[in-house]
Amino acid sequence: MKIITSVEDQEKLSKELINDNRDISLIPTMGNLHLGHESLLKSSDKDDYRVSSLFINPLQFDDLNDYNNYPKTIEKDIKILKSYKIDCLFLPDKESIIQNISDSDHLNLPKFTDILCGKYRKNHFQGVFIIVKKLFEIIQPSKAYFGKKDYQQILLINHLVNKFFDGNIKIIQCETIRENNGLAMSSRNSHLTQDQKNLASMVYKEICFLKEVFLDNKDSFNENKLFVIKNLSDLGIKIEYLEILSRNTLTKPRPDDKEVNIFVAYYIGTSRLIDNIEI
Ligand code: AMP
Repeated sequence: MKIITSVEDQEKLSKELINDNRDISLIPTMGNLHLGHESLLKSSDKDDYRVSSLFINPLQFDDLNDYNNYPKTIEKDIKILKSYKIDCLFLPDKESIIQNISDSDHLNLPKFTDILCGKYRKNHFQGVFIIVKKLFEIIQPSKAYFGKKDYQQILLINHLVNKFFDGNIKIIQCETIRENNGLAMSSRNSHLTQDQKNLASMVYKEICFLKEVFLDNKDSFNENKLFVIKNLSDLGIKIEYLEILSRNTLTKPRPDDKEVNIFVAYYIGTSRLIDNIEI
């Protein structure tokens, strides 16, 4: 596996591959790879030249502490990428990416980024948008793989592709991979003790319960949502948001809406976790 750290070298490689009519598949990550990331690697098209990027995006963190403490396991990550026969790891340093950002990258984001995580994490989606746009410009993939765990992010990436890449990058959405107890895998889980992970899995169980409530009788959803928030709060879990929304627009579902998700963000101690399930 090639390891490229310079933006110029990565651009040069992509140019050569495209001249040779090779398609590039991109799997972007922030490292500390787990089985969730591995499912993206597994799904990626083996006929393509497969590039995985590893960049802890400073612009998407609203809390410097959270950025500084983000788990880093680069040696292990390289072993995992090699085991999936990924062709190239793009591992740029912070400065080379940030200095490549121009004023025109600071753009107005669509309305749906004002709610859910966008409401509570100021500038988070702006940071995601700027860096993913930059990665797409450097690597020029024809396909890119993202996890449904970060559902709002996927909608933003679709918007980015339509607005700036003429819809020419195929965004492949991969299912959320969970621990046996239902907790969605996340790099942030490495900050949790086993007891805290078990506690966090209660959130998944409760949103599955709310899914059944919704399917049974939509009108009782809100009443049961309050009950769930109270139950979780009694266990020491602070819910930041718990919403049921149309999954394509992130607006209130219409009565006949068939494409609906439950979205949740919550705190276990100081760790903030997110999840969502389809209904
Ligand atoms: P991250 O390294 O957290 O930025 O994640 C990189 C990619 O992996 C994103 O597209 C995430 O949505 C995806 N991802 C993270 N956790 C999971 C998971 N549990 N299941 C599926 N995809 C995931």
